[in-house]
Amino acid sequence: MRPLQMVDTKTQYNKIKTEVDAAVIAVLESSQFIGGKVVADFATHLADYNGVKHAIPCANGTDALQIAMMALDLQPGDEVITPSFTYIATVEAAAILKLKPVFVEVDKQTFCIDPEAIEKAITPKTKAIVPVHLYGHAADMEKIMAIAAKHNLHVIEDNAQAIGCNYTFSDGSVKKTGGIAHIGTTSFYPSKNLGAYGDGGAMFTNDDMLSEKLKKIAAHGQGARYYHDIVGCNSRLDAVQAAILDIKLQHLDEYILARRKAADFYDKAFANHTKITTPFRAAYNDHVFHQYTLVLNGVDRDALSAFLAEQKIPSMIYYPVPCHKQKMFESFGGSSYDLPVTDWLTERVISLPIHTELDEEQQSYIVKNVLGFANR
Ligand SMILES: *Cc1c(COP(=O)(O)O)cnc(C)c1O
Repeated sequence: MRPLQMVDTKTQYNKIKTEVDAAVIAVLESSQFIGGKVVADFATHLADYNGVKHAIPCANGTDALQIAMMALDLQPGDEVITPSFTYIATVEAAAILKLKPVFVEVDKQTFCIDPEAIEKAITPKTKAIVPVHLYGHAADMEKIMAIAAKHNLHVIEDNAQAIGCNYTFSDGSVKKTGGIAHIGTTSFYPSKNLGAYGDGGAMFTNDDMLSEKLKKIAAHGQGARYYHDIVGCNSRLDAVQAAILDIKLQHLDEYILARRKAADFYDKAFANHTKITTPFRAAYNDHVFHQYTLVLNGVDRDALSAFLAEQKIPSMIYYPVPCHKQKMFESFGGSSYDLPVTDWLTERVISLPIHTELDEEQQSYIVKNVLGFANR
């Protein structure tokens, strides 16, 4: 059996090595390391894939969120509603700009922001909602967009974990996550479903004016060369990463199917277990399984994790501390929140290895050990 890893980027690379190596060498030989045709082509292909008018590459997924908030002209003190149960970057981007993160509950089944909790948290200062498609499962975007329309709010979808996820609306129309809200953001961190071999990120929008603004902010607020219209930052996807991503994008749907197949295998193995809840899949979306995350009930999580580690099976807790309890957000009133669902999940979730290269032998071994421990 091949050694187990949370993500196996090496085996995945070996399968596309010839293509990737040639593309990287072509960039090196061109000496066009920043911008140029390779980056522009990737942006076009990415926009087409995601079903949006514009994809604007940038340096990473955290920048993408920050630039999105800047492009929407959010001002210090403006309230931004986000889940607390997410990776820190979602909320950090707001805090950097001195916006006020307002933490709300997630749905116990989908792990994504609870639309009803959003409505209750809206005040005259609320300017935006940032739903996160956690672990590759879409937030309930139809409801969220309706709430936003009713209250005249902006929506930024944090799609870092769900690129390629299809969302079906009640009228039967289908859109890809990241392409539903006013702006979508994503990350190409190596372990993400569309991972670079370094850092990278992108923003999506169907709005021509917003697209221009996002581009401008990511390039020092520059309009004409050396004429800077607005305060921006420096956030670029380099050409080597764009060349690699352009190849991997062609494999993304096949990668998603491999992840889903691995999830199906786990689902079947853990079905109807009294102490283990497998990931929920809302009918409105096609889960892309960035993570495969179980909820444990009556199993000692730390002991399970230690036991698995002894059997050379990695596991992870995403995330052991919700944002509202992070020291970083103390000054934003983090400790004043009461989010029982978030706390409950934080204490019980555990993620098992899931990636495009997982085989049945590996999965059987993982399942056997998880069940062996849970059934003790
Ligand atoms: C990875 C991730 C980010 C940040 O992306 P980086 O490229 O690491 O900056 C933001 N939000 C979520 C939900 C993520 O998983």
